[in-house]
Amino acid sequence: MSAPAIYLDHNATTRPLPQVIDAVAQALTQTWANPSSQHDLGQQARSALMQARAAVARMLNCKPAEVVFTSGATEAYAMALRGAVGFNGRQALVISEAEHSSARKLGTQLSKQPGTTVRWVGLMPDGSLDMVQAREFIRDDVSLVSVMAANNGTGVLMPLGELARLAHAQGALLHVDATQQIGKLPFDFAACGADLVSLSAHKFGGPKGVGALLVRQGLNWPSMWPGSQERARRGGTENLPGIAGMAAAAQALMLTPEAWLARAAHMAQLRDQLEQGLAHALPGVQILGEHAPRLPNTTMLRFGSLHAEQVLKALEKLGVAASSGAACSSGGTEPSHVLLAMGLERDEALGAVRLSLGPDTAATDILTVLQHLPPALAPLMQTSSSSPLSSGQSAASPGVFA
Ligand code: PMP
Repeated sequence: MSAPAIYLDHNATTRPLPQVIDAVAQALTQTWANPSSQHDLGQQARSALMQARAAVARMLNCKPAEVVFTSGATEAYAMALRGAVGFNGRQALVISEAEHSSARKLGTQLSKQPGTTVRWVGLMPDGSLDMVQAREFIRDDVSLVSVMAANNGTGVLMPLGELARLAHAQGALLHVDATQQIGKLPFDFAACGADLVSLSAHKFGGPKGVGALLVRQGLNWPSMWPGSQERARRGGTENLPGIAGMAAAAQALMLTPEAWLARAAHMAQLRDQLEQGLAHALPGVQILGEHAPRLPNTTMLRFGSLHAEQVLKALEKLGVAASSGAACSSGGTEPSHVLLAMGLERDEALGAVRLSLGPDTAATDILTVLQHLPPALAPLMQTSSSSPLSSGQSAASPGVFA
């Protein structure tokens, strides 16, 4: 199978940057020793690990000692949630319905433990968090409030500053899953008010299988894997090739404010052009989360009553790689829990397709989609618009999610 020519699936993963590949290769060929070994080779690996930690910390505006390297965001998230149960003698967790499916599964598991309560904060039809419910749920029995910075499907951004204030006013901690924001918008640990942050390197040009949990200094967070590494917070020989690759990706994100603005504006302009072009050419297109603040690169769309698989098939024929809902659940037939929480019906949610752009997405990529996708989908949409599930009508009516 030949590789798709146009990659619009950057929220699933990103292509490793050339400097990341070099850094991984260098760690495998030169600093391959165990960073805990006392000999010279071990000390060289240790020094490479320190440099990598410093680079990651600089990009996120945190202290090197606050970085705990993990195998990715899933593990980091699990450290945050599991560590929070019973922390400070409190048994309740507040988690948003927008969370990644792995976090949702873990939250559900934890809620079955005797004595542990999980309160799920719902979503508004535009994909934003129900803040009335958040205020009601964040009480003085809560150890941790957990929310993503940006949703992987819709790209909707969550109000981190407000949640930090609410959590801290009740003596609770805030955990932020920043996996989708990093690489698309600047992320600042010190400024965002979070006590814990999860991230994954492959979402911003780094390798897979490596990420971090940021733990605010002074917070004595329980370890999931006992051992001496990572200041005894995560045992196991460090994945130095992955960590060095992650550091190289972090270095590439050390941009001036002007460069960040240009990077985000490039993606937003093309994303908006794509949305407007599709909505204009195909009546019945619905943009999910359109009216909430969003990541600049993400769009989640429905095409009348078409199933996502029909749209993805048409995109594949054009050489475009995209996803239905979250990449992790693609291939399955379960609708996205996030879209259901936004009020979509099951069949509506099964129609959602996510296109996520990257800094290298070219104007010609978007033009190709705009030229060829509408003629491919229009006849299918016409055929299906006579079915009772037609969403051509619902797309036009406000409050369709309610
Ligand atoms: N959180 C979010 C918001 C994500 O999008 C993902 C990956 N899709 C994860 C967590 C999990 O990341 P990883 O699979 O790299 O551990």
